[in-house]
Amino acid sequence: MARIYRCGVLQIEPTDVCNLHCRMCTPQVERKESVHGSHPQGFMPIRLLRRIADDIAGSPVRFDHVIFQWLGEPTLHPNLMEMVAICHDRFRKQCGYFRIDTNGTALTPRRVDALIDIYLRDRDFPILVVFSLDAVTEATYARVKGAPPGTFRRVLDHIEYLLERRADLADGPMNLNLEFQFVLQGGNAHETRAFMEHWDRRLAGGRRGIGYNEVMIKRLSVAAGGEGQRLADELYDHTLRAFDIRPYDKAHIHVATWKDRTWERDADPARDSGKRRSSVGTAS
Ligand code: SF4
Repeated sequence: MARIYRCGVLQIEPTDVCNLHCRMCTPQVERKESVHGSHPQGFMPIRLLRRIADDIAGSPVRFDHVIFQWLGEPTLHPNLMEMVAICHDRFRKQCGYFRIDTNGTALTPRRVDALIDIYLRDRDFPILVVFSLDAVTEATYARVKGAPPGTFRRVLDHIEYLLERRADLADGPMNLNLEFQFVLQGGNAHETRAFMEHWDRRLAGGRRGIGYNEVMIKRLSVAAGGEGQRLADELYDHTLRAFDIRPYDKAHIHVATWKDRTWERDADPARDSGKRRSSVGTAS
């Protein structure tokens, strides 16, 4: 399938409920009862997703990719894998790939198995799983994500299981791609380089490096902009300089620094050459 550019993104929010309270995530950190105005928090009904899929399938519309993400944690949806299967099955002709952003807490081995099964139905339709991690130690994770003790270990175990399962799919094309995301902020800036080095080491060697792996060191977006954004930008630039962090590519890993905000400029197709992937999106 040819790469689809400048077609926008089909963004689906399976739920606006989250089990973490990341400092950077205003609606969840403030523990608001509602994150979308007066609309109560909840879970998207499967029938609604099917209706959307039916409407889109019957139209000529095209999207860069379809993404599960916004103000909640998609994997908390009890019917998550059914929703993924619907998207993977129905949108493959109209979207470049399927992406899910997750904190990984509920991406259990059972769900990873289901994800692999869905992927194997059409290995040419790429899946990108973006893990929102923002830390390399339990203490920093707990601080910036508002997570109870043991959560970080559980997330790492889930990622480990996914890596193991993916490593077993050694034959044929590999379009099950992973991104490890680090949104640089006051509580974790000191771990920026350690984060990059951890994933470089972990993904190197043996059969573990197959698939497209990306570490994304991302700039914090402050919703209110202004002085808060200026300080976040300053910290980002200072940290990258201080730790000498630059983008690089190896066979088993690609490190990207998201210096610009992509919505402030046109997407650059050259950035997406080669493997289909996404390095665009909002903090989640
Ligand atoms: S950034 Fe994502 S994981 Fe963190 S609280 Fe917000 S929705 Fe949850």
